[in-house]
Amino acid sequence: MRVLAPSRSRFLPSAILIVSCLILAGCSTPNPRLSQVDPGIAQVLELWKPHLLYLLPSPHSRLYVEVDAVEGCVPNQAALQKLRDFLSKYCNKPDGIEIVRSDVIPIETARGISEKALARKYVNGPAKTTGSPPAFMYVLFYNDALCKASVKAEHSRASAAQSSRRAAKPYAEVLPYPAIYFNTRYFPWFPWRFCGMDKKGLLHEAGHMLGLVTRSTSAPGRHCPDRACLMNADIHLRRVLLGQQKELCLQCAAELAQSFTQPSPSNLRFVDSVVVRSEAGYNVLSLPDRLCVIVGDFAERDCQDFGAHIRAETPDANQRLRVDYLANDEVLKEPVKLSEIINRLKDDPFDLVRRGGPRVFLRACADRYGALGQYTNAVDMLHRAILLDSSDDSSYNQLAWIRATCSDASVRNGKEAVAAASKACELTEWKDWEFIDTLAAACAKPAISNAPSNSKNKHCARAIQPSQNRRRCESDCRSMKCRSLFAINRTSLEGAIAARGSTGKARTEAFASTRVVCFLASLNRLLVAVR
Ligand SMILES: [Zn+2]
Ligand SMILES: [Zn+2]
Repeated sequence: MRVLAPSRSRFLPSAILIVSCLILAGCSTPNPRLSQVDPGIAQVLELWKPHLLYLLPSPHSRLYVEVDAVEGCVPNQAALQKLRDFLSKYCNKPDGIEIVRSDVIPIETARGISEKALARKYVNGPAKTTGSPPAFMYVLFYNDALCKASVKAEHSRASAAQSSRRAAKPYAEVLPYPAIYFNTRYFPWFPWRFCGMDKKGLLHEAGHMLGLVTRSTSAPGRHCPDRACLMNADIHLRRVLLGQQKELCLQCAAELAQSFTQPSPSNLRFVDSVVVRSEAGYNVLSLPDRLCVIVGDFAERDCQDFGAHIRAETPDANQRLRVDYLANDEVLKEPVKLSEIINRLKDDPFDLVRRGGPRVFLRACADRYGALGQYTNAVDMLHRAILLDSSDDSSYNQLAWIRATCSDASVRNGKEAVAAASKACELTEWKDWEFIDTLAAACAKPAISNAPSNSKNKHCARAIQPSQNRRRCESDCRSMKCRSLFAINRTSLEGAIAARGSTGKARTEAFASTRVVCFLASLNRLLVAVR
């Protein structure tokens, strides 16, 4: 829903033409472009209807709007007053609408950080009060020139120069998390902000947050075809100067009125800043570009933990949208129920949850079973994940690790460990050192059969990690007197390091030597067995 394109008109009245020519001379606004909405997203919105949380008096009788801004992008009071008036006019919130200025993010802190990462770091949620929990709307005012500094190394000089000229359009995002990202650089002070175009832009995005425009036949691209309407794809300077595009047209207002005939969402609500969608047997928690699927019992405390976990992320890492899965211990005790939930995950309306869901969830279950010491169940989960997707390298790797290093001797299976680890390496074309690390551990397993604990063994196999981890590993190895293991791992893993950092023939040779070491480790295992 990247939207809003202030544009120039070809047919300006002469009095304005002179002004506009002067204006356009210093303007770098990109050409208007209608946004296209993914049909999959449109379908989810139809089922999900998050905008009803803002419009209807239930389940939230009040609305709390948090406004964060990067230093230098702070909106003026008039803009926020316009937003309040707009929301008050169209949202039925009997207990009121509160717009609160929150963080002013220092420029140096924001430099190189994407707007989504800033949102994840700075979204605070509504202030704690004794009243009913409110619906929550997040608005971030930022400057994309600061954000783009982070990607300068990834762009060619030409594209970097191009991106520095073009400002990103403000946009409202509804999925996976409703928020307005308002790039103030798109509205330089003169002429756009001077003419109040930025305020119209903010209201336009707020209109999207309220669900506009969904009239499928007459409103393509979620925008209103009426050029005098605030929800038209283009906001024209001429029309704004003529007093148009200040309001919603009659059809858009009627569309909002139509929303009030719909029932309140029964499975959707805000818990603090987190959107929670409850499905049978599981809940989907959302924050900007982060989803967490919690299977089994759910408590509001889970939202606070999820929020704290996301805020603790390093802001400039993990830019991609991510879905995490957590398995509640209670549901793990009921295999039949667990299977039903996995089947339901396959039909979730949101394709991000649906696509990787069951497979990733099975891995999460395996993790949890492992932590509980139920290794047989963990192995069973991983077998099921591999059955679902035979190209799932992570499941092969996880299976290999358990089979190679499990503290329960009845679960260890050297043959399967090596086979699964090899498969993981093949699926990733021997490019993932962690998987090669697992293979090394699988091959070296007999050498550590007398080692005291599973966790210590893990340190040995993770010896590839430089500096601190390596020193820790060496120390552990000395204390466990398993130098032979460390020697095997170090040699094979250093081969992996060399392969990772090299190209062409050197890379091939490095990988070959890694495989030879793994093979020698296998021989070592055999000799140990013969002895
Ligand atoms: Zn729009
Ligand atoms: Zn309209």
